[in-house]
Amino acid sequence: MSNSDQVSQVIVVGAGIGGLTLAIALARQGYQVRIFEQADALSEVGAGLQLSPNAVKVLRTLGLEHVLKDYVYQPENAAIRHYQSGRYFLKSELGLQAEQRYGAPYWHIHRADLHGVLVQACYSAGVEIELGHKVLGYRSDKKKATVLLENKTEYCDLVVGADGIHSKVRELMLGIQAPIFTGQVAWRGVIRADQIKGVELKPDATVWAGPNQHMVTYYLRGGEFVNFVAVEERAEWSNESWRQEGKVSELQSKFAGWHPEVTRMLDACDATFMWALNGRPTLPKWSDQRVVLLGDACHPMLPFMAQGAAMAIEDAYVLSQLLSKHDYPTAFTQYETIRKPRTSAIQKLSRENAGLYHMHGGMLGQAKLEALGVVSKFAGGLIKGKLDSVYGYDVTSLSM
Ligand SMILES: Cc1cc2nc3c(=O)[nH]c(=O)nc-3n(C[C@H](O)[C@H](O)[C@H](O)COP(=O)(O)OP(=O)(O)OC[C@H]3O[C@@H](n4cnc5c(N)ncnc54)[C@H](O)[C@@H]3O)c2cc1C
Repeated sequence: MSNSDQVSQVIVVGAGIGGLTLAIALARQGYQVRIFEQADALSEVGAGLQLSPNAVKVLRTLGLEHVLKDYVYQPENAAIRHYQSGRYFLKSELGLQAEQRYGAPYWHIHRADLHGVLVQACYSAGVEIELGHKVLGYRSDKKKATVLLENKTEYCDLVVGADGIHSKVRELMLGIQAPIFTGQVAWRGVIRADQIKGVELKPDATVWAGPNQHMVTYYLRGGEFVNFVAVEERAEWSNESWRQEGKVSELQSKFAGWHPEVTRMLDACDATFMWALNGRPTLPKWSDQRVVLLGDACHPMLPFMAQGAAMAIEDAYVLSQLLSKHDYPTAFTQYETIRKPRTSAIQKLSRENAGLYHMHGGMLGQAKLEALGVVSKFAGGLIKGKLDSVYGYDVTSLSM
């Protein structure tokens, strides 16, 4: 059953990865879609993103795989290595074999490249993107929804809050959900690969596991850049912004004595940004009458499974499909029923990985990593089984 008679105008709050993906899918179904984005320009932070096969399957269904291919780097393995010796605790294939196993490739991509492709697809589909418009409030009743901006009010049939981890729409719907500091602070940076002297980084997505801190390194844009995310434990921190500059010398000193692939890479680093990793409680509901949440706004997650953007992309696909088949109250209910168990399971896996990468428990922590290596060598199916549920999932084949 088509629902386009009753619902034709949708306002999406936030031109992030989830909001743009949803807008493309809805506009192609005939909805009139407008996005209000608080930023004055369409740009993304300089950082990389791991796009696992479950996300690529959605992007393929939206016809974007061939465009994105020009920007990506396909890693050979997912690896967990000892922070000093570089010894492998785990090495799991991510190239062709993984592509065959999961039905789509595993990619690394610069966020700006993904963002750019999604924005172009939005324009081609007729989506209007209004920049410099911060959404301050909404109202919703049986007949319509209203979005309040700084200097105007806009009306529509549905509002989607895809406004990220600090979501205003979520706050208005459910009250302030105070962030819970996880005791971890992350640093990120992107470095030109040709500036890294004396070592060549392996063509893998590598987690360097060390006591109370870890580092993730991987190539971007066909190998032109290396992206890193470093995570350390700290007693307190308050800022959740992605754009707070960190001191390169401080970062370098924290990782002094680590494997040369890490230290030489950091020698070539000239800028780094840092932010606190916070959790938030599970939300009691994701929608309120004509307003619904999507992506980080309803299920922010720690980056240790590299699945936040992937979940926003999956959300967008499910919500768009449900809206094309059902009236919006049914679509919103089914959306939460389908998505909440999946996103909660991945939030949990992400939390568990933090302890593993930081060798919590001293020798015991290291023993756990060693055991992971043994398991992957002699019972690789166990590790693959865990990843199968994440990467093998195909949201485009669900019957909705
Ligand atoms: C270190 C790190 C590494 C990560 N690595 C990966 C990875 O490898 N793979 C992966 O899948 N995920 C990764 N993630 C997670 C991923 O980046 C996020 O989950 C994803 O960007 C969420 O998308 P979103 O559309 O929900 O929100 P966002 O992309 O945050 O977009 C929200 C948008 O809403 C706008 N906005 C906010 N408030 C308002 C308002 N009031 N009015 C108007 N506009 C507003 C913002 O400006 C922004 O443009 C990582 C995250 C971190 C922190």
